[in-house]
Amino acid sequence: MAIDGGNAAILRLAVPVPLRRLFDYLPPAGVEPASLVPGQRLWVPFGGRKLVAVLVDVVAESPHARLKPALAQIDSVPLFDARSRAFLHWAADYYQAPPGELYAAALPAALRKGKPADHWAEQWLQLTTEGKGLPDTALARAPKQQALLQLLLQRGRESRTQLKVLGHSTAVIRALGERGLVDWTAGPTVPPPVIDDNTEAAAPPQLNEEQQQVLEAIPAEGFSASLLEGTTGSGKTEVYLRLMARVLAAGRQALLMVPEIGLTPQTLRRIAARFPEHNIAALHSGLAEGERAQAWLSAAMGTADIVIGTRSAILTPLPRLGAVIIDEEHDGSFKQQDGVRYSARDLSLVLGRNAGVPVLLGSATPSLESLHNALSGRYQHLRLRNRAGNARPPQISVVPTLGQPLEEGFAPQVLRHIGDTLARGEQVLVFINRRGFAPALTCDDCGWLADCPHCSSKLTMHRRSRQLRCHHCDYRRPLVESCPQCHSRSLSALGGGTERSEELLARRFADFPVIRVDRDTTASKQALDRLLAPARDGEPCLLLGTQMLAKGHHLPRVTLVVIQDADGGLFSADFRAPERTGQLLEQVAGRAGRGDLAGRVLVQSRFPEHPLLQLLLERGYGPFARQLLQDRATAQLPPLRAMALVRAECEEPRWAEEFLQQARAQMQTLAPPSPELAYLGPVPALLERKSGRFRFYLQITADKRGVLQPLLARFCQWAEGNKNRRLRWAVDMDAQELA
Ligand code: ADP
Ligand code: ZN
Ligand code: ZN
Repeated sequence: MAIDGGNAAILRLAVPVPLRRLFDYLPPAGVEPASLVPGQRLWVPFGGRKLVAVLVDVVAESPHARLKPALAQIDSVPLFDARSRAFLHWAADYYQAPPGELYAAALPAALRKGKPADHWAEQWLQLTTEGKGLPDTALARAPKQQALLQLLLQRGRESRTQLKVLGHSTAVIRALGERGLVDWTAGPTVPPPVIDDNTEAAAPPQLNEEQQQVLEAIPAEGFSASLLEGTTGSGKTEVYLRLMARVLAAGRQALLMVPEIGLTPQTLRRIAARFPEHNIAALHSGLAEGERAQAWLSAAMGTADIVIGTRSAILTPLPRLGAVIIDEEHDGSFKQQDGVRYSARDLSLVLGRNAGVPVLLGSATPSLESLHNALSGRYQHLRLRNRAGNARPPQISVVPTLGQPLEEGFAPQVLRHIGDTLARGEQVLVFINRRGFAPALTCDDCGWLADCPHCSSKLTMHRRSRQLRCHHCDYRRPLVESCPQCHSRSLSALGGGTERSEELLARRFADFPVIRVDRDTTASKQALDRLLAPARDGEPCLLLGTQMLAKGHHLPRVTLVVIQDADGGLFSADFRAPERTGQLLEQVAGRAGRGDLAGRVLVQSRFPEHPLLQLLLERGYGPFARQLLQDRATAQLPPLRAMALVRAECEEPRWAEEFLQQARAQMQTLAPPSPELAYLGPVPALLERKSGRFRFYLQITADKRGVLQPLLARFCQWAEGNKNRRLRWAVDMDAQELA
């Protein structure tokens, strides 16, 4: 269709609805089509609602008749540049996700809700071409103007807010403006500095030879993928900082991706202290909505030089991108587990290729995926084999627990070691992989067990808050004093958790602070930072907690690490469990002896002879992971094959199962099972029932990723026609969890 007989402008938009296509609209009434550019947001009517959509393309014709006009233009400048749009569409295709949902996932909440971007705009003073070309001494007789000019030469530009702080008066600015040396532009505000008073400007250490070699091996120009495998404390972060410095010197943006719990104030301080003259934007879930929008805009508009973020930061447009660094690349938090189930780690390589910049994946315990890519030559394999600074590797021993007189799960010799370490004035870290008091409550007389009414799981006893809680759906009920079934008062708490160990340890070592760190004690990153303050001060103390303690925190006075139970992951039905257990144990063990003092690690196990555990403890994660890779090859599992899950869940289990049976039949007519393509299922998920819904999945593995894509696309096409509103389905490409 055409308007006025001339070239019609039709807007092709990504609308945040669960349909895998774009939608055509007419320009909003009264809006000049020429002012509509891809990457802007618009309000559109959709099924009686008003939604925020992103303009993807302006076209001349639409296959659809009777288009509606969009309601209003939100942005005057595009938020997504062309490269970022191409990247998001690639990701939508790869993960079989609705493009509108990908744009929504990329935007911070405030912008997703349609708040205008210029709400966070700032006036920036910059040098004009004449200003830049001025000889150094030209303004020698006007020292205030000269000082401002000098500042702008150094920093490129400066915000009105900051100029005021620095004491540059309006008169001086006007004088320079009248000479045609400076002018104002509008741009996003830079988020408030992440630094606080404790920040000391750190002089960078001299790189050791290994670090130097690693840094030189990363090409300055063009796309490259490198895996940096280096034990905890080997100086990986120092390599990241140098790579960032290189990127910043070239006038480009550095993106540093960190795990959900790795973005600690401590990490931010270290980076801010190294680059005091650069703008840093931190993108994470701990920010208020406005702060997050501000940080996002400064990244997307190119004002921020360094962008540090958790998972969704990978979707942020970065117009001057110069390098992508993924710290702790093995971390599970890089994979989104609901909605658009993307992997930020995997996408970083796509982004790097699109932008033509280096991608550096770093870890002490690389994922089997990345290790496989490095060993097969697809990534450059870089290694740091020694600890940087003075720290030496810790000494690791296994403590067999079977048949031992345990006290709340601790062997007597372990308690003795803890006492000795504290008495020497050093710190102890105890790792327990479960929070709460005990993972189950049972009746000694009739065998009743406290179950979650909504999930196929037990309720965890929390003694402090006097509650029984489900760790899967967050159902809570008051702790019972007697058995609801037979009214017996003899109830037993089975197994242990952080609360239970805390009680014992606080009693046994009453002269020392016992600091418990888990999700229940740390509502925010700041709370965690505060909680750890005594430990950082170096006082003897006992830290105990879950994997929150395993990373990000540099605690140089910890000399003893105790792993209460190493066995859990070795016997799980999830084929990835041994990999995760190995990573966790190695990361926790790496907390020992990070400073000048030697470290010791005690690992309790009922099965000290388990070959995988022995391999891990005696030879380390590297050889352990290589063994696991061989096992995966034998079992035809990822990363040796590509794997996707099609998931379905429903209150009525039969419906979910039947839906997946039909899905399988559909896909098999397109591609029958063969040596290159295998179907498994539908099978119940490891946690079969969650929040009242029964969960099933269909597993498809293939030699090549490319085989899976058309199959999944076909499935989505079919499944979008599903009319059963109570049944939910999802495609999980490169699934990480079978749970
Ligand atoms: P990783 O990220 O591998 O755990 P870091 O980069 O945090 O390691 O380094 C561990 C410790 O060693 C830090 O305190 C860091 O400041 C120090 N360090 C790193 N590189 C050097 C070096 N070349 N010389 C001296 N100290 C170093
Ligand atoms: Zn009972
Ligand atoms: Zn539950």
